[in-house]
Amino acid sequence: MTILPDSVVVIGAGLAGLRTVERLRQNGFEGSITLVGREPDLPYDRPPLSKQVLQESWAPEHTLLTSLKALEELGVDVRLGVSAVSLDKRRIGLDDGTELHPDAVVIATGVVPRELPGQPAGVSTLRTLTHARDLRDALTTAKSLLVVGAGFIGAEVTTAARSAGLEVTVLEAESRPCARILGEKGGELVARLFREAGVDLRTGSSVKQFVDARTVELADGEKLTADHILVAVGAVPDTGWLEGAAPLMPGGDGIITGSTGRIEPLPCVWALGDIAAWWDQPRRRNARAEHWTSAGDQASAVVADLLGLETPTPPVPYVWSDQFGLKLQVIGRPDLADQVETLKGEGTSGGAVKGTVLGYRRGDALVAVAAFGAPAALLSYREQVAVGTASITTVAVPDDDE
Ligand SMILES: Cc1cc2nc3c(=O)[nH]c(=O)nc-3n(C[C@H](O)[C@H](O)[C@H](O)COP(=O)(O)OP(=O)(O)OC[C@H]3O[C@@H](n4cnc5c(N)ncnc54)[C@H](O)[C@@H]3O)c2cc1C
Repeated sequence: MTILPDSVVVIGAGLAGLRTVERLRQNGFEGSITLVGREPDLPYDRPPLSKQVLQESWAPEHTLLTSLKALEELGVDVRLGVSAVSLDKRRIGLDDGTELHPDAVVIATGVVPRELPGQPAGVSTLRTLTHARDLRDALTTAKSLLVVGAGFIGAEVTTAARSAGLEVTVLEAESRPCARILGEKGGELVARLFREAGVDLRTGSSVKQFVDARTVELADGEKLTADHILVAVGAVPDTGWLEGAAPLMPGGDGIITGSTGRIEPLPCVWALGDIAAWWDQPRRRNARAEHWTSAGDQASAVVADLLGLETPTPPVPYVWSDQFGLKLQVIGRPDLADQVETLKGEGTSGGAVKGTVLGYRRGDALVAVAAFGAPAALLSYREQVAVGTASITTVAVPDDDE
Protein backbone atom coordinates (compact mmCIF):
# COMPACT_ATOMS: atom_id res chain seq x y z
CA MET A 1 0.00 0.00 0.00
CA THR A 2 1.32 3.49 -0.91
CA ILE A 3 1.67 5.85 2.05
CA LEU A 4 0.76 9.28 0.74
CA PRO A 5 2.86 12.28 1.76
CA ASP A 6 1.39 15.14 3.81
CA SER A 7 3.96 17.66 2.65
CA VAL A 8 5.82 18.25 -0.62
CA VAL A 9 8.68 20.67 -1.33
CA VAL A 10 9.30 21.50 -4.98
CA ILE A 11 12.79 22.95 -5.58
CA GLY A 12 12.94 25.12 -8.70
CA ALA A 13 10.18 27.57 -9.62
CA GLY A 14 10.39 27.19 -13.38
CA LEU A 15 8.06 25.43 -15.80
CA ALA A 16 8.53 21.90 -14.40
CA GLY A 17 8.24 23.07 -10.78
CA LEU A 18 5.08 25.06 -11.48
CA ARG A 19 3.43 22.25 -13.45
CA THR A 20 4.21 19.84 -10.57
CA VAL A 21 2.50 22.13 -8.07
CA GLU A 22 -0.53 22.57 -10.33
CA ARG A 23 -0.86 18.83 -11.06
CA LEU A 24 -0.65 18.00 -7.34
CA ARG A 25 -3.71 20.14 -6.62
CA GLN A 26 -5.52 19.02 -9.82
CA ASN A 27 -5.12 15.43 -8.57
CA GLY A 28 -6.63 16.22 -5.17
CA PHE A 29 -3.48 16.55 -3.03
CA GLU A 30 -4.53 18.46 0.10
CA GLY A 31 -1.25 18.51 2.03
CA SER A 32 1.21 21.40 2.25
CA ILE A 33 3.19 22.48 -0.82
CA THR A 34 6.29 24.70 -0.72
CA LEU A 35 7.80 26.05 -3.94
CA VAL A 36 11.41 27.25 -3.65
CA GLY A 37 12.95 29.28 -6.49
CA ARG A 38 16.37 30.86 -6.92
CA GLU A 39 15.19 33.72 -9.14
CA PRO A 40 13.19 36.65 -7.77
CA ASP A 41 10.59 36.29 -10.54
CA LEU A 42 7.43 34.21 -10.48
CA PRO A 43 7.60 31.17 -12.81
CA TYR A 44 7.91 32.36 -16.42
CA ASP A 45 8.13 30.81 -19.85
CA ARG A 46 11.57 30.57 -21.48
CA PRO A 47 10.80 29.89 -25.19
CA PRO A 48 9.58 33.48 -25.79
CA LEU A 49 12.86 34.87 -24.37
CA SER A 50 14.70 34.10 -27.62
CA LYS A 51 11.68 34.83 -29.80
CA GLN A 52 8.93 37.37 -28.93
CA VAL A 53 10.90 39.19 -26.19
CA LEU A 54 13.97 39.74 -28.39
CA GLN A 55 11.81 40.73 -31.35
CA GLU A 56 10.08 43.19 -29.01
CA SER A 57 6.60 41.87 -29.82
CA TRP A 58 6.17 40.88 -26.14
CA ALA A 59 7.00 42.83 -23.00
CA PRO A 60 9.11 40.57 -20.73
CA GLU A 61 6.27 40.42 -18.13
CA HIS A 62 4.11 38.72 -20.76
CA THR A 63 6.15 35.54 -20.19
CA LEU A 64 4.85 35.01 -16.63
CA LEU A 65 3.11 31.64 -16.32
CA THR A 66 1.15 32.42 -13.17
CA SER A 67 0.49 35.08 -10.52
CA LEU A 68 1.09 35.23 -6.78
CA LYS A 69 -2.70 35.27 -6.32
CA ALA A 70 -3.12 32.06 -8.34
CA LEU A 71 -0.40 30.34 -6.31
CA GLU A 72 -2.00 31.56 -3.06
CA GLU A 73 -5.32 30.14 -4.23
CA LEU A 74 -3.56 26.81 -4.73
CA GLY A 75 -2.34 27.07 -1.14
CA VAL A 76 1.34 27.13 -2.11
CA ASP A 77 3.99 28.57 0.21
CA VAL A 78 6.12 30.40 -2.37
CA ARG A 79 9.72 31.23 -1.48
CA LEU A 80 11.43 33.17 -4.25
CA GLY A 81 15.01 34.45 -4.30
CA VAL A 82 16.04 31.42 -2.22
CA SER A 83 18.28 28.53 -3.37
CA ALA A 84 18.49 24.97 -2.13
CA VAL A 85 22.12 24.35 -1.24
CA SER A 86 22.07 20.86 0.29
CA LEU A 87 20.03 17.67 0.33
CA ASP A 88 20.33 14.88 2.88
CA LYS A 89 17.65 12.31 2.07
CA ARG A 90 14.59 14.59 2.44
CA ARG A 91 16.23 17.31 4.53
CA ILE A 92 16.80 20.38 2.38
CA GLY A 93 19.16 23.20 3.34
CA LEU A 94 18.37 26.66 1.94
CA ASP A 95 20.77 29.56 1.48
CA ASP A 96 18.71 31.74 3.86
CA GLY A 97 19.84 29.39 6.64
CA THR A 98 16.52 27.56 7.03
CA GLU A 99 15.89 23.84 6.60
CA LEU A 100 12.86 22.01 5.22
CA HIS A 101 12.06 18.38 5.94
CA PRO A 102 9.00 17.36 3.92
CA ASP A 103 7.55 13.89 3.28
CA ALA A 104 8.36 14.23 -0.45
CA VAL A 105 10.90 16.27 -2.43
CA VAL A 106 10.69 17.17 -6.12
CA ILE A 107 13.81 18.64 -7.78
CA ALA A 108 13.17 20.82 -10.86
CA THR A 109 16.15 23.15 -10.94
CA GLY A 110 16.78 23.24 -14.69
CA VAL A 111 20.12 24.07 -16.26
CA VAL A 112 22.51 27.01 -16.60
CA PRO A 113 24.16 28.23 -19.81
CA ARG A 114 27.51 26.62 -20.62
CA GLU A 115 30.25 29.25 -20.71
CA LEU A 116 33.50 29.22 -22.65
CA PRO A 117 36.85 29.36 -20.85
CA GLY A 118 37.83 32.95 -20.07
CA GLN A 119 34.44 34.31 -21.14
CA PRO A 120 34.54 38.02 -20.19
CA ALA A 121 31.77 39.94 -18.43
CA GLY A 122 29.69 41.76 -21.03
CA VAL A 123 29.43 38.70 -23.29
CA SER A 124 25.81 37.47 -23.24
CA THR A 125 24.30 34.07 -22.58
CA LEU A 126 20.54 33.47 -22.67
CA ARG A 127 18.59 31.50 -20.10
CA THR A 128 16.78 33.90 -17.77
CA LEU A 129 14.45 36.88 -18.00
CA THR A 130 17.33 39.10 -16.85
CA HIS A 131 19.56 37.73 -19.64
CA ALA A 132 16.79 38.40 -22.20
CA ARG A 133 16.29 41.99 -21.03
CA ASP A 134 20.06 42.63 -21.17
CA LEU A 135 20.41 41.06 -24.62
CA ARG A 136 17.38 42.93 -25.98
CA ASP A 137 18.91 46.22 -24.76
CA ALA A 138 22.28 45.35 -26.29
CA LEU A 139 20.69 44.56 -29.66
CA THR A 140 18.94 47.92 -29.79
CA THR A 141 22.27 49.79 -29.91
CA ALA A 142 24.58 47.25 -31.62
CA LYS A 143 25.13 47.23 -35.37
CA SER A 144 26.79 43.80 -35.42
CA LEU A 145 26.45 40.57 -33.45
CA LEU A 146 28.75 37.56 -33.16
CA VAL A 147 26.94 34.39 -32.14
CA VAL A 148 29.05 31.49 -30.90
CA GLY A 149 27.04 28.29 -31.34
CA ALA A 150 24.44 27.56 -34.03
CA GLY A 151 21.96 25.51 -32.01
CA PHE A 152 18.29 26.43 -31.61
CA ILE A 153 18.90 29.39 -29.30
CA GLY A 154 21.77 30.73 -31.44
CA ALA A 155 19.53 30.46 -34.53
CA GLU A 156 16.61 32.23 -32.83
CA VAL A 157 18.74 35.11 -31.56
CA THR A 158 20.28 35.40 -35.05
CA THR A 159 16.75 35.59 -36.48
CA ALA A 160 15.85 38.45 -34.12
CA ALA A 161 19.11 40.28 -34.78
CA ARG A 162 18.77 40.01 -38.56
CA SER A 163 15.19 41.28 -38.47
CA ALA A 164 16.47 44.28 -36.46
CA GLY A 165 19.00 44.91 -39.26
CA LEU A 166 22.21 43.80 -37.50
CA GLU A 167 25.10 42.18 -39.34
CA VAL A 168 25.43 38.71 -37.84
CA THR A 169 28.34 36.27 -37.90
CA VAL A 170 27.74 32.80 -36.48
CA LEU A 171 30.50 30.39 -35.45
CA GLU A 172 29.69 26.70 -35.25
CA ALA A 173 32.24 24.03 -34.31
CA GLU A 174 30.31 21.23 -36.06
CA SER A 175 30.03 20.96 -39.85
CA ARG A 176 26.30 21.96 -39.77
CA PRO A 177 24.10 24.07 -37.50
CA CYS A 178 21.64 22.26 -35.17
CA ALA A 179 23.31 18.97 -36.15
CA ARG A 180 23.16 17.57 -32.59
CA ILE A 181 19.35 17.38 -32.89
CA LEU A 182 18.76 17.22 -36.66
CA GLY A 183 21.81 15.35 -37.94
CA GLU A 184 23.76 16.32 -41.08
CA LYS A 185 20.83 16.36 -43.53
CA GLY A 186 18.58 18.45 -41.29
CA GLY A 187 21.51 20.66 -40.33
CA GLU A 188 22.21 21.38 -44.00
CA LEU A 189 18.68 22.76 -44.38
CA VAL A 190 19.20 25.04 -41.38
CA ALA A 191 22.54 26.17 -42.89
CA ARG A 192 20.61 27.27 -45.98
CA LEU A 193 18.18 29.24 -43.81
CA PHE A 194 21.10 31.06 -42.17
CA ARG A 195 22.72 31.88 -45.52
CA GLU A 196 19.47 32.90 -47.23
CA ALA A 197 18.93 35.33 -44.33
CA GLY A 198 22.28 36.99 -45.08
CA VAL A 199 24.15 35.56 -42.10
CA ASP A 200 27.90 34.95 -42.26
CA LEU A 201 27.75 31.33 -41.06
CA ARG A 202 31.13 29.76 -40.38
CA THR A 203 30.95 26.05 -39.68
CA GLY A 204 33.86 23.95 -38.42
CA SER A 205 34.99 27.10 -36.66
CA SER A 206 35.64 27.48 -32.95
CA VAL A 207 36.85 30.11 -30.51
CA LYS A 208 40.45 29.72 -29.30
CA GLN A 209 40.19 32.57 -26.82
CA PHE A 210 38.50 35.87 -26.05
CA VAL A 211 40.65 38.94 -26.67
CA ASP A 212 38.04 41.08 -24.88
CA ALA A 213 34.23 41.30 -24.60
CA ARG A 214 33.95 42.25 -28.30
CA THR A 215 36.72 40.23 -29.95
CA VAL A 216 37.49 36.55 -30.26
CA GLU A 217 40.49 34.76 -31.71
CA LEU A 218 39.57 31.67 -33.72
CA ALA A 219 41.43 28.36 -33.71
CA ASP A 220 43.08 29.34 -37.06
CA GLY A 221 44.38 32.64 -35.60
CA GLU A 222 41.82 34.95 -37.27
CA LYS A 223 40.34 37.64 -35.01
CA LEU A 224 36.67 38.62 -35.24
CA THR A 225 35.15 41.72 -33.66
CA ALA A 226 31.47 42.64 -33.21
CA ASP A 227 29.55 45.23 -31.21
CA HIS A 228 28.12 42.43 -29.09
CA ILE A 229 28.83 38.71 -28.56
CA LEU A 230 26.39 35.96 -27.55
CA VAL A 231 27.65 32.55 -26.43
CA ALA A 232 24.99 29.91 -27.09
CA VAL A 233 26.85 26.62 -26.72
CA GLY A 234 24.29 24.66 -24.75
CA ALA A 235 23.40 24.38 -21.10
CA VAL A 236 24.55 22.26 -18.17
CA PRO A 237 22.77 21.08 -15.02
CA ASP A 238 23.97 22.80 -11.87
CA THR A 239 24.31 19.64 -9.76
CA GLY A 240 27.23 20.65 -7.50
CA TRP A 241 24.95 20.90 -4.44
CA LEU A 242 23.69 17.33 -5.07
CA GLU A 243 27.07 15.57 -5.20
CA GLY A 244 26.98 12.62 -2.85
CA ALA A 245 23.27 13.28 -2.17
CA ALA A 246 21.73 11.92 -5.39
CA PRO A 247 22.94 9.65 -8.23
CA LEU A 248 24.36 11.80 -11.04
CA MET A 249 25.25 11.19 -14.67
CA PRO A 250 29.00 11.23 -15.53
CA GLY A 251 30.36 14.75 -15.13
CA GLY A 252 27.28 15.74 -13.14
CA ASP A 253 25.24 15.94 -16.36
CA GLY A 254 21.85 15.41 -14.74
CA ILE A 255 20.19 13.47 -11.94
CA ILE A 256 19.64 9.78 -12.73
CA THR A 257 16.02 8.72 -12.26
CA GLY A 258 13.67 5.92 -13.24
CA SER A 259 11.00 6.32 -15.91
CA THR A 260 8.67 8.30 -13.61
CA GLY A 261 11.33 10.65 -12.27
CA ARG A 262 11.80 8.73 -9.01
CA ILE A 263 15.39 8.85 -7.71
CA GLU A 264 15.59 5.15 -6.94
CA PRO A 265 17.94 4.98 -3.95
CA LEU A 266 16.21 7.86 -2.15
CA PRO A 267 12.77 7.33 -0.63
CA CYS A 268 10.21 9.88 -1.84
CA VAL A 269 12.51 12.10 -3.92
CA TRP A 270 11.83 12.82 -7.61
CA ALA A 271 13.52 14.95 -10.30
CA LEU A 272 12.14 16.28 -13.57
CA GLY A 273 12.62 18.85 -16.30
CA ASP A 274 15.92 19.87 -17.86
CA ILE A 275 18.03 18.72 -14.89
CA ALA A 276 16.70 15.16 -14.86
CA ALA A 277 18.08 12.23 -16.85
CA TRP A 278 15.07 9.91 -16.90
CA TRP A 279 15.34 6.28 -17.89
CA ASP A 280 14.40 6.26 -21.59
CA GLN A 281 13.43 2.76 -22.65
CA PRO A 282 13.69 3.27 -26.47
CA ARG A 283 17.28 4.50 -26.02
CA ARG A 284 17.98 1.96 -23.25
CA ARG A 285 19.81 4.61 -21.27
CA ASN A 286 19.15 7.63 -19.10
CA ALA A 287 18.81 10.87 -21.04
CA ARG A 288 17.93 14.50 -20.37
CA ALA A 289 15.36 16.21 -22.60
CA GLU A 290 15.59 19.99 -22.71
CA HIS A 291 12.10 20.23 -24.21
CA TRP A 292 9.24 22.47 -23.06
CA THR A 293 6.59 19.77 -23.49
CA SER A 294 8.67 17.21 -21.54
CA ALA A 295 8.50 19.41 -18.42
CA GLY A 296 4.69 19.21 -18.40
CA ASP A 297 4.54 15.54 -19.38
CA GLN A 298 7.04 14.63 -16.70
CA ALA A 299 5.14 16.64 -14.06
CA SER A 300 2.07 14.48 -14.78
CA ALA A 301 4.13 11.29 -14.35
CA VAL A 302 5.89 12.46 -11.17
CA VAL A 303 2.62 13.51 -9.52
CA ALA A 304 0.88 10.24 -10.49
CA ASP A 305 3.78 8.25 -9.01
CA LEU A 306 3.92 10.44 -5.90
CA LEU A 307 0.17 10.04 -5.26
CA GLY A 308 0.08 6.32 -6.07
CA LEU A 309 -2.00 6.83 -9.23
CA GLU A 310 -1.56 5.06 -12.55
CA THR A 311 1.37 6.67 -14.37
CA PRO A 312 0.72 7.90 -17.94
CA THR A 313 2.40 6.29 -20.95
CA PRO A 314 5.41 8.46 -21.91
CA PRO A 315 4.44 10.55 -24.97
CA VAL A 316 6.61 10.88 -28.08
CA PRO A 317 9.15 13.69 -27.41
CA TYR A 318 8.46 16.99 -29.17
CA VAL A 319 10.52 20.15 -29.59
CA TRP A 320 10.13 23.22 -31.77
CA SER A 321 12.13 26.28 -32.72
CA ASP A 322 11.10 29.43 -34.60
CA GLN A 323 13.84 30.34 -37.08
CA PHE A 324 13.98 32.70 -40.04
CA GLY A 325 10.20 32.95 -40.37
CA LEU A 326 9.39 29.26 -40.17
CA LYS A 327 8.57 26.78 -37.46
CA LEU A 328 11.00 23.90 -37.18
CA GLN A 329 9.45 20.95 -35.34
CA VAL A 330 10.82 17.57 -34.33
CA ILE A 331 8.94 14.59 -32.93
CA GLY A 332 10.66 11.46 -31.71
CA ARG A 333 14.32 10.65 -31.20
CA PRO A 334 16.45 11.44 -34.31
CA ASP A 335 19.58 10.20 -32.51
CA LEU A 336 18.24 6.62 -32.76
CA ALA A 337 18.14 6.68 -36.57
CA ASP A 338 20.58 4.96 -38.90
CA GLN A 339 19.19 6.67 -42.05
CA VAL A 340 17.42 9.90 -42.95
CA GLU A 341 15.06 10.30 -45.91
CA THR A 342 12.98 13.09 -47.41
CA LEU A 343 9.28 12.46 -46.78
CA LYS A 344 8.00 15.67 -48.36
CA GLY A 345 9.19 18.87 -50.01
CA GLU A 346 12.07 20.07 -52.15
CA GLY A 347 14.61 21.33 -49.59
CA THR A 348 17.07 18.44 -49.88
CA SER A 349 17.18 18.75 -53.67
CA GLY A 350 17.93 22.48 -53.65
CA GLY A 351 14.31 23.78 -53.62
CA ALA A 352 12.54 25.71 -50.86
CA VAL A 353 13.39 24.62 -47.32
CA LYS A 354 9.86 25.55 -46.22
CA GLY A 355 7.57 22.55 -46.56
CA THR A 356 10.38 19.97 -46.29
CA VAL A 357 9.81 17.00 -43.98
CA LEU A 358 12.58 14.55 -43.05
CA GLY A 359 11.99 11.03 -41.74
CA TYR A 360 14.52 9.38 -39.41
CA ARG A 361 14.49 5.57 -39.58
CA ARG A 362 16.14 2.81 -37.63
CA GLY A 363 15.84 -0.13 -39.99
CA ASP A 364 12.23 0.07 -41.17
CA ALA A 365 10.97 1.83 -38.05
CA LEU A 366 10.21 5.55 -38.27
CA VAL A 367 11.68 6.92 -35.00
CA ALA A 368 11.55 10.69 -35.65
CA VAL A 369 10.28 13.32 -38.08
CA ALA A 370 11.55 16.88 -38.57
CA ALA A 371 9.34 19.41 -40.34
CA PHE A 372 10.52 22.76 -41.70
CA GLY A 373 7.48 25.02 -41.86
CA ALA A 374 5.10 22.09 -42.32
CA PRO A 375 3.12 21.72 -39.06
CA ALA A 376 0.15 19.80 -40.52
CA ALA A 377 2.45 17.28 -42.21
CA LEU A 378 4.32 16.76 -38.95
CA LEU A 379 1.12 15.92 -37.10
CA SER A 380 0.19 13.32 -39.68
CA TYR A 381 3.36 11.32 -38.81
CA ARG A 382 2.90 11.35 -35.03
CA GLU A 383 1.20 7.96 -34.86
CA GLN A 384 3.76 6.33 -37.19
CA VAL A 385 6.60 7.61 -34.99
CA ALA A 386 4.88 6.26 -31.87
CA VAL A 387 4.40 2.86 -33.52
CA GLY A 388 7.94 2.84 -34.98
CA THR A 389 9.47 3.71 -31.61
CA ALA A 390 7.40 1.05 -29.85
CA SER A 391 8.61 -1.54 -32.35
CA ILE A 392 12.27 -0.98 -31.42
CA THR A 393 11.57 -0.82 -27.69
CA THR A 394 12.30 -4.01 -25.79
CA VAL A 395 10.78 -4.77 -22.41
CA ALA A 396 14.02 -5.84 -20.77
CA VAL A 397 15.84 -3.17 -18.76
CA PRO A 398 19.57 -3.74 -18.22
CA ASP A 399 20.57 -3.75 -14.57
CA ASP A 400 23.12 -0.95 -14.94
CA ASP A 401 22.15 2.64 -15.73
CA GLU A 402 24.04 3.13 -18.96
C1 LIG B 1 15.84 31.01 -24.47
C2 LIG B 1 15.19 29.64 -24.45
C3 LIG B 1 14.34 29.27 -25.48
C4 LIG B 1 13.74 28.01 -25.47
N1 LIG B 1 12.92 27.66 -26.50
C5 LIG B 1 12.35 26.44 -26.52
C6 LIG B 1 11.52 26.05 -27.60
O1 LIG B 1 11.29 26.80 -28.54
N2 LIG B 1 10.97 24.81 -27.57
C7 LIG B 1 11.20 23.93 -26.54
O2 LIG B 1 10.69 22.80 -26.55
N3 LIG B 1 11.99 24.28 -25.50
C8 LIG B 1 12.56 25.50 -25.46
N4 LIG B 1 13.37 25.86 -24.41
C9 LIG B 1 13.60 24.88 -23.32
C10 LIG B 1 12.50 24.98 -22.25
O3 LIG B 1 12.25 26.30 -21.90
C11 LIG B 1 12.96 24.17 -21.03
O4 LIG B 1 12.97 22.81 -21.43
C12 LIG B 1 12.09 24.35 -19.80
O5 LIG B 1 12.13 25.67 -19.35
C13 LIG B 1 12.57 23.42 -18.69
O6 LIG B 1 11.89 23.70 -17.50
P1 LIG B 1 12.58 23.42 -16.07
O7 LIG B 1 11.54 23.80 -15.08
O8 LIG B 1 13.17 22.08 -16.05
O9 LIG B 1 13.80 24.43 -16.00
P2 LIG B 1 13.77 26.00 -15.82
O10 LIG B 1 12.66 26.58 -16.63
O11 LIG B 1 15.17 26.46 -16.12
O12 LIG B 1 13.46 26.23 -14.28
C14 LIG B 1 14.35 25.87 -13.25
C15 LIG B 1 14.27 26.89 -12.16
O13 LIG B 1 14.97 26.41 -11.01
C16 LIG B 1 15.69 27.48 -10.42
N5 LIG B 1 16.81 26.93 -9.63
C17 LIG B 1 18.00 26.49 -10.09
N6 LIG B 1 18.75 26.00 -9.07
C18 LIG B 1 18.02 26.17 -7.95
C19 LIG B 1 18.24 25.87 -6.57
N7 LIG B 1 19.38 25.27 -6.15
N8 LIG B 1 17.29 26.19 -5.66
C20 LIG B 1 16.13 26.77 -6.07
N9 LIG B 1 15.86 27.07 -7.36
C21 LIG B 1 16.78 26.77 -8.29
C22 LIG B 1 16.15 28.29 -11.62
O14 LIG B 1 16.46 29.61 -11.23
C23 LIG B 1 14.93 28.21 -12.53
O15 LIG B 1 14.05 29.27 -12.32
C24 LIG B 1 13.98 27.11 -24.40
C25 LIG B 1 14.86 27.49 -23.35
C26 LIG B 1 15.45 28.74 -23.38
C27 LIG B 1 16.39 29.15 -22.26
